[in-house]
Amino acid sequence: MTDRILIRGGIVLTQDEQLGELPNADILIEGDKIAAIGKGLSAADAQVIDASGNIVIPGFIDTHRHTWETSIRTSAPDYTLGAYFGAILDKFAPAYRPDDVLAANRWGALECVNAGITTLVDWSHIMNTPDHADAAVERLRDTAIRSVFAFGVATSSMQAWWFGRDCGGSFERIDGELARRIRSQDLSDDQGLITMALATRGTNFCKPEVVRYEWELAKELGINVTVHVAMDRFGYTKGQLTALRDMDLLYPNTTYIHSSHLTDEEWGLVRDSGGNVSLAPQIELQMGHGWAPAQKADKLGIPVGLSSDVATTAPSDQFTQMHAIFASERGRRHEATWNEDLDGNVPTSDLINVRQVLRWATLDGAKVAGIADRTGSITPGKKADLVIIDGGAVNVAPVIDPVAAVVLAADISNVDTVIVDGKILKRNGKLLADLVAPRKAVEASRDYLVGQVEPQEGWLVAARA
Ligand SMILES: [Zn+2]
Repeated sequence: MTDRILIRGGIVLTQDEQLGELPNADILIEGDKIAAIGKGLSAADAQVIDASGNIVIPGFIDTHRHTWETSIRTSAPDYTLGAYFGAILDKFAPAYRPDDVLAANRWGALECVNAGITTLVDWSHIMNTPDHADAAVERLRDTAIRSVFAFGVATSSMQAWWFGRDCGGSFERIDGELARRIRSQDLSDDQGLITMALATRGTNFCKPEVVRYEWELAKELGINVTVHVAMDRFGYTKGQLTALRDMDLLYPNTTYIHSSHLTDEEWGLVRDSGGNVSLAPQIELQMGHGWAPAQKADKLGIPVGLSSDVATTAPSDQFTQMHAIFASERGRRHEATWNEDLDGNVPTSDLINVRQVLRWATLDGAKVAGIADRTGSITPGKKADLVIIDGGAVNVAPVIDPVAAVVLAADISNVDTVIVDGKILKRNGKLLADLVAPRKAVEASRDYLVGQVEPQEGWLVAARA
C-alpha cells in the first residue's frame, strides 16, 4: 500500500505567508508530511483525491477544550460562569470515573476529527487518580488526532477546587509525581502526535506557593503553561498577570485563556513575555466571561487561538467560534462608532476580516498550541494535517471568495475529508472510525453521571430514569 496521497486541483488556502491562496493546486503527501504543492504534480503510485471545486485548508486547531465534559454535553445550556463552577466542577467532576474519561475523550476526539479539527488541546483538569490520566491519554492516542494533553488538577474529594475552601485560594497542588510519570513514560517525545502542557489555575485561584510550585513544575518538565485569566466580573480574576510578573513567572509560550478583562499594562506583559491567548467567543459571550478581545491581541502581534471550552454549554466546533468572533468583534466596533458619532454618518473603520479569522482558527492556533513548526499551514515539510471542504454543497456553492466560503458559509456537514499526520481519518463526509461502541460508551457514561447529581429541568435522561 502506498503512503503517498495526491490531492488534485483544489482551491488551496495555505495560510503560509509565502504561498498564500492558490486557486488551483495539487498537494502531494508522502508519509506523514506535505512533500510538495504546485500545479500538475505527478506521483504514479499515489492515492489520488480529486479536490476540484473544493477548498483545502490546514486542519483547525482547538486551543482549549475540557474534553472530559463531552459525556455531559448540553447539561448546562443556560448557565453563567458562576453557575457552571458550582454545578459542573463541584458536582459532576468529583463523580467522574476513569471509564467516564475514557468515553468522553474518545467521543470528543472523534467529534473534533469530524468537524475538521486536526489538533486538540485537551485541558484536562480531571486528574482524580492515575487511572483518569491514563484514560485521557489512551483515548486521545486511539483516535489518531494530533493533541496537546494539558495535565491539570485532580477534583476528587474537593469541594471548591478552584478557589479553595476558604475562598482565599486553593492549597491543592497539581500531582507533580503523576505529571512527571506521564511526561517520562507516555509523553516524552516533543515531536510526537501527542505532546504535553501543564493546565494550571494560577494566581487568584491558588495560594502563591501553589502557583510557584506548578509553574516551576512546568519548567522542570520542559512544557508550556496554559491558564485561565481575566474572566467574568469577579474581583478575584483581576491582576493575575501583574501577580505573575511580581513572582517572575511570565514564561514564554504561556497560553492565557479568555483574557476578557486584561488591562493595557497586562496586555503589554503578555506581548513582552512571548505569551499568547486562547479565546472561546461563543462561551465568553454566553456565560459572561466578557468580550473575546481578538482584535486587541492581534494588533499587538499576540497569537490568537480559538477554542470551544465546554460542550456542556455551547457547540464544540471551529465554525461556531469563527462566526461568534466575527460577529462580536465587528459588533463592538460598530457600537463604538455609533457612540462616537451620534449622527451615524461615519462608516465603521478598523473592522476585523475573514482572513484574520481563518488565520486564528488555523496557523495562530498552532502557535498557541506550541506546534506551529509542524502544523497550522499547508507548507512543504510540515505534517500533513489537512481538511477538504465541499465547495459544491448547497450551503457553500457558488464559491466567490473561498475564505468567506469557509469562515461564513460552511459548517461541519461540509467537512468532506480530514487528514492527520498523513492518515485519512474522514473521507466523503464519513468518519472512518467505528462510532457504535464509542457512542454506547459515552451514553452509558452520561447515564451514570446524571444519576450522581440532582436532575435539572429539561433533562430528558433524568425524566426517563
Ligand atoms: Zn476553560
